[in-house]
Amino acid sequence: MKNVILLAVQGAGKGSLAQVLKSKYGYVNISMGEVLRNARNDGSKRAEIIAEYQDKGMLVPFEITMELMKERISQPDCENGYILDGFPRDLAQAEAYDKILNDLQKDIGVVIHLTIPEELIYERISGRRTCRNCGKVYNIYSEKFMPKEEGICDDCHGELYQRSDDTEEAIQKRVETYFRVTAPLIDYYKEKGVLHEVPSIDIDETVEAVEKILGDQND
Ligand code: AMP
Repeated sequence: MKNVILLAVQGAGKGSLAQVLKSKYGYVNISMGEVLRNARNDGSKRAEIIAEYQDKGMLVPFEITMELMKERISQPDCENGYILDGFPRDLAQAEAYDKILNDLQKDIGVVIHLTIPEELIYERISGRRTCRNCGKVYNIYSEKFMPKEEGICDDCHGELYQRSDDTEEAIQKRVETYFRVTAPLIDYYKEKGVLHEVPSIDIDETVEAVEKILGDQND
């Protein structure tokens, strides 16, 4: 299986697509936001810094992010292909990631850029609910992603919560940051010849398009 980078504005459906690819093909999903959220509860100075930046919707400092990223993709479950969601977020991270791949002798794989109309972004993010226990993501405004029982995870019966950075102010900040610092990565990966553009309106159509890309790559 190829490694995959999912590139898209928040709310474009990176997490949902990653979940489908995980359950259908066993891809390991690495959500950088989730890796950072997991690291913000150990009472350390690092945890304090992560919480401060995340709650403002700002990118967590480079060194902390790269350290956690390298640690995560070095784990044995990543040997057969993984999906990166929310990383890299800017050019400095993309260049540092290339170096890590080189050190670990891993291949970049494919970059999938999910595109959605801007007016859908806020609806998708404000409806988002995450399981406190297993991290599965739902959307209370979407029939396909609603939990069967309100507030409860279908898979593990954990409690669903709304992330502390899914406030209107933090969402605006994250979307603005995306267009300013993450969108330039589209050209970076286009030049490397690994970029694929896929519209993300209907999840079934998106999955079909991505399966075709991954199938062609794995041939
Ligand atoms: P997400 O779950 O992708 O919406 O990310 C939530 C928050 O985690 C972001 O607003 C940032 O504060 C932080 N974060 C996620 N990915 C990164 C990254 N690659 N670099 C720095 N901070 C990140």
